Amino acid sequence: MSAYVARADRLAQRVEELGLDLLLVSHLVNVRYLTGFTGTNGAFLVGPGHRVFLTDFRYVERAKEEVPDFDRVRGREDMLESALEIALDAGDGREGRVRLGFDDSHMTVRAHAKLAELAGDRVELVRAGGLAEDLRAVKDEAEVSAIRASTAIADDLYRWLISEHGLAGKSEHEVAVALERRAQDHGADGLSFPAIVAAGANGALPHATPRRDAVIPRDTLVVVDLGCMLDSYCSDCTRTFATGEIDAEARDCYELVRTAQEAALAVTQPGADVREVDRVARDAIAAAGHGDQFGHGLGHGVGLEVHEAPRLGPTASGSLEAGNVVTIEPGVYVPERFGIRIEDLVLVRAEGPQVMTSIPKELIVV
Ligand code: ZN
Ligand code: ZN
Repeated sequence: MSAYVARADRLAQRVEELGLDLLLVSHLVNVRYLTGFTGTNGAFLVGPGHRVFLTDFRYVERAKEEVPDFDRVRGREDMLESALEIALDAGDGREGRVRLGFDDSHMTVRAHAKLAELAGDRVELVRAGGLAEDLRAVKDEAEVSAIRASTAIADDLYRWLISEHGLAGKSEHEVAVALERRAQDHGADGLSFPAIVAAGANGALPHATPRRDAVIPRDTLVVVDLGCMLDSYCSDCTRTFATGEIDAEARDCYELVRTAQEAALAVTQPGADVREVDRVARDAIAAAGHGDQFGHGLGHGVGLEVHEAPRLGPTASGSLEAGNVVTIEPGVYVPERFGIRIEDLVLVRAEGPQVMTSIPKELIVV
């Protein structure tokens, strides 16, 4: 059975459990996950007895290749209209309204208003966001391989940065551009997000953008956060480098983040509460007096999107499952001085976490 048929079957089961007749999958990443379609206009209708893929005339040929597993319907450019027609057909000859689930976390207010107007009184619209995302959180073998391949390219970029390209004397922006170019030259489709290269005080901003005019000095810390994209799958890795001598406080903070990261990794296992895993790192950092300098969640799932379920953080909920691929990325950010973050990508497994990232975590001088 193709992976897509298996995924659609699992989703259909959830749809049935929720008492829906059909689910309209309109978010393209979810359509890609469920059908294999990579174009920019498509939708998928899933229900106990339905698997219908819709696209417009521009993608009919591509869909023949990419979506062999399901009925394909050539819809109008406005997928919602065509999807509604199919939902109405599904209700023909039966009592009551058709219960049609839609993805409320990705549908615009405008699209929803249009859907409601088309639905009239024969179709009941039911909020059903997050169903495909829940499935996506547990990766199958092919997905794990894709993420591994994407991670391998990012790791090669880091090795090249460390051993050949260097940091000091170049602007943050120059380094970020060089990484992006090299990612493409070495087989990635691109980066999974714009690379972060942040030296000294700029590193204290967790989402710093690389500055054109900031030449990276010697004897400072530099945060580099980087992921690749390959066959639609992302990777994500952060390392913090030194460009020479750093003072004792910076060195202590680095060791603190490294031990907190490893303590959290050790409890990244099936069944672990996502808040508890976060807490392990957060408590270690707080115990050393830097609790208020770790202002973001511990990690997130990575797959077709660079930030996806499950999330690990003080306000997240749920527990980890075998097959999750998550980042573990604590940080300490000392305003106006430096930032430190160490981020690995990890496969959650019954036999223990498997760190996919292969770059060492001892402080490296570049
Ligand atoms: Zn990252
Ligand atoms: Zn991340």
